[in-house]
Amino acid sequence: MQTKTHIDDQLISALRARGQRVTPQRLLLNRALRELDRHVSAEELQAAVADRLPNVSAPTVYATLELFEELGTLRRVPRPGADLWDPRVDDHHHLVCRSCGAVEDVEAGVDASAAFRAARRHRFSPDRAQLTISGLCRNCRRS
Ligand SMILES: [Zn+2]
Ligand SMILES: [Zn+2]
Repeated sequence: MQTKTHIDDQLISALRARGQRVTPQRLLLNRALRELDRHVSAEELQAAVADRLPNVSAPTVYATLELFEELGTLRRVPRPGADLWDPRVDDHHHLVCRSCGAVEDVEAGVDASAAFRAARRHRFSPDRAQLTISGLCRNCRRS
């Protein structure tokens, strides 16, 4: 388990490296994400910090999540309806249930080199690829 100071320090250095301001609100949202430690929607995050940040608006929460994604401390998981945000940034892929929207991590070595080559043909400079596998989760399969 990471300590609070360590979590703050990581964000502070990432913000400073990009010339971004360190604000109590950004630190608090980052801490809440690490505490939740799962894929969350912007609404879930806002609800989780409601007692500590009663006046934070949904657009501010969303902008902060996008900033963290840019800093590389958070990943966006595209999902129909509402994207989810993942505090786990190492390489992994996602199973997204098309019925209930549940998201699960999946470990798999995926060779994206053909897709990367295609991206370069579009004069696009790719950083990484993440795979979203849509289908039915085990609960939805049963019903
Ligand atoms: Zn499901
Ligand atoms: Zn994940």
